[in-house]
Amino acid sequence: MLIIEDERHLVGLLRGYLEREGYEVHEALDGEVGLEVARRVEPDVVVLDWMLPRLDGIEVLRELRRFSDAYVVLLTARTEEVDKIVGLSAGADDYLTKPFSPGELVARVRAMLRRPRGEAATTPEEEKPLAFGELEIDPARRRVRLGENQVSLTALEFDLLLALASRPGFVFGRRRLLEWVWGEDYFGDDHVVDVHVANLRKKLNAAEDGAGNRYVRTVRGVGYRFENS
Ligand code: CA
Repeated sequence: MLIIEDERHLVGLLRGYLEREGYEVHEALDGEVGLEVARRVEPDVVVLDWMLPRLDGIEVLRELRRFSDAYVVLLTARTEEVDKIVGLSAGADDYLTKPFSPGELVARVRAMLRRPRGEAATTPEEEKPLAFGELEIDPARRRVRLGENQVSLTALEFDLLLALASRPGFVFGRRRLLEWVWGEDYFGDDHVVDVHVANLRKKLNAAEDGAGNRYVRTVRGVGYRFENS
């Protein structure tokens, strides 16, 4: 785990909480050092402050995403919705608005790490690739192919697509998707789902024109359903 944050007292506080939970914690006080440490220690989770000296959080995130699929929790002092959306679009998995309790961060991190990653967490039955026309979802390799194109998804986008596609036609409410994908004790807001669905659609649309909108349908006022088309 890596904390990139310039407020020393906050780093110390979070480190104490996270170490008590048994996590190995690395820290960096600015964005450039943060990227150096991330390259060296390959963390599973990065807690990233939005306002940082030298390189700000969003630049760090864009660079980090070139070499790491770590879960990223963005810390923001601002409350504007637009910042959260920018952060999530740039590849953050979650965000916390300051001030927050360290216990809340620990709960988010625990929920993220409990989500299945890679082969270890899947049963043989779940490992079979799902195919819907041109779209193939391979849970064992965590790969998505659309026709000739490989679709490169973040861990969260993949989990979201897999959840929806596991029950074609079923209408998933946002709450239910949060529980499936983020874990039962996730207590962020439902809006997060919409942002990740938008990113997922955009990537599918880029692989094949209109595919994202065709496969992932909005059910107005409720949530989403996967359409086998
Ligand atoms: Ca800061």
